[in-house]
Amino acid sequence: MRRAAVQERAETDGYAVELRGVHRRYGRGAGAVHALRGVDLGLARGTFTAVMGPSGSGKSTFLQCAAGLDRPTSGSVRLGGTEITGLNENKLTELRRTRLGFVFQAFNLLPSLTVEDNVLLPLRLTGQRPGRRRAEEVLGQVGLADKARRRPGELSGGQQQRVAIARALVTRPDVVFADEPTGALDTGTAAEVLGLLRHAVDRLGATVVMVTHDPVAAAWADRALFLADGAFADALDRPSAEAVATRMTALTGRVPAGVAA
Ligand code: ADP
Repeated sequence: MRRAAVQERAETDGYAVELRGVHRRYGRGAGAVHALRGVDLGLARGTFTAVMGPSGSGKSTFLQCAAGLDRPTSGSVRLGGTEITGLNENKLTELRRTRLGFVFQAFNLLPSLTVEDNVLLPLRLTGQRPGRRRAEEVLGQVGLADKARRRPGELSGGQQQRVAIARALVTRPDVVFADEPTGALDTGTAAEVLGLLRHAVDRLGATVVMVTHDPVAAAWADRALFLADGAFADALDRPSAEAVATRMTALTGRVPAGVAA
């Protein structure tokens, strides 16, 4: 049911993220590396997508190009309906600050600022003077309403990542990009953080694109996409961790543990 609703929204509002014919080449001539070789992708608003692939398959390059942190060699990238390929650096920075949220493996909070000030930073960087209310609201959404006056160093890793998610949501962005968001967390804490991203999509209307190499993390997404040699080679809807692991094994060519050769 929800999928049908999402599809309908995509048709009326367009995609949150759209890449067409995206190539990214590093270097030239014989030594050139083709990190992305023709990526065509549209991600509907209000969806949670996991991007997977073996090391070197182009995941980081994809995320950087999709989030306007790197420029494709050719092709087009649209975010929230805005073509970003031709934007100058200032416009791109503004677009990233106002319309994108980021969650990183290492949390990337500013240690000298309180939790509340970390969360409000993206709004302040765009010249707004947000009230405490907005911080309270978004910290409440991640279950940390009582931690507003703490500093990141006083919180656990999982709590810090929840602050980072609150910071990513504070501008009500078109897209949240998450780069291995659970890479530094233990299994139980990882599940809490992934549950929050899921909640942001289901209840707050967020769109999440998450790069991960962890099949268990990918299982929280609506869809897992598999990169191989710079192109999307496969996709799984409503992925289970087992199905994702099997697909990854097929891509890397390794026989899974416990399976006789
Ligand atoms: P992944 O994130 O899946 O490990 P990357 O996007 O980091 O893959 O890399 C894709 C390919 O592009 C790899 O072959 C990698 O060595 C190459 N690559 C990435 N960044 C650069 C760079 N700055 N210069 C040259 N080659 C690069």
